[in-house]
Amino acid sequence: MKNTNKTLLTALSASFALVAYLIADSAIANETSASTQVKVTTQSKVAVNEQLPSVEQVLQQVHHCNKSITIRSQALSPDKVITACNELIAQEDRFHQVFNTRNKPVHGDNNTSLRANFYSSNAEYVKYATEHFNMPTNNGGMYLEGYPERPGNHAEFVAYKRNGGLWNLSHEYIHYLDGRFNRYGDYCNGLHDDHAGPEFCPTPNLSYPHGVWWSEGVAEYMAWGNNNPKAITIASKKKYPLSELFNTSYNNNNGSDRVYRWGYLAVRFMMENHRDKVEKSLVLSRQGDWVGYQALMRSWSTSMDQQWFTWLENLAE
Ligand SMILES: [Zn+2]
Repeated sequence: MKNTNKTLLTALSASFALVAYLIADSAIANETSASTQVKVTTQSKVAVNEQLPSVEQVLQQVHHCNKSITIRSQALSPDKVITACNELIAQEDRFHQVFNTRNKPVHGDNNTSLRANFYSSNAEYVKYATEHFNMPTNNGGMYLEGYPERPGNHAEFVAYKRNGGLWNLSHEYIHYLDGRFNRYGDYCNGLHDDHAGPEFCPTPNLSYPHGVWWSEGVAEYMAWGNNNPKAITIASKKKYPLSELFNTSYNNNNGSDRVYRWGYLAVRFMMENHRDKVEKSLVLSRQGDWVGYQALMRSWSTSMDQQWFTWLENLAE
């Protein structure tokens, strides 16, 4: 697939439920250094041509957790920042162990670090994020992969403080690591059916199976580990054969439960029971060989479905 796209965004819904990746245009380079200029009329005090403060002016607190994680925030307490850093560093170590990455990124990936940007509230997020990152704000936060093939590209996660916490940061951080170490190319290079703006992946997309079950499932699996009560609760419903979950995508075969909860269950099942198959799929996804990846998954067909249902039954007990 031609690699014409620039920015990976993961949109999170305003509730805790995560929604689809979105794509944005030209995203990250839009950090203007505009100063605030407010003209005030003598009669109405109406602001004219107001320019917002720059991202550096608004997100003044910058903390480098390590060489691959920076947290930039408006009003996070030092305690919160340190706690978040420690969690992410532990998660990063675990990711490298689980996937035996040897710290070797996929070919052409220059996303050496992720910067997590936190506004102090949804109101501040809505006020500034579009100007600072050229992204929509009708969501709970976004991951911007940018142009990983370009030297100097900087992956950004943009969100706001909710209920005192940094929601979804772990999930987003796994997207960053998965994108850098397990999946070749930018978002539009992969297998899904999302053509939404602000950036638009080419249409039509490739046929099924897609890669959404893995992308979202592994983010949930690594973020939650074995402790994901919402997913485990619905496991007993045995709603989908595993073979059907491989066709999960964003616009079709979608829905919050299917994408995140069932994605989690599918990835956990594969990691626990068919690690050899996961390894074969990772060899292909790291090369961006999506035709090979699809052929591999089609060869699995329904062979694991019965074992999957049994596993679900045991999990839900
Ligand atoms: Zn996600």
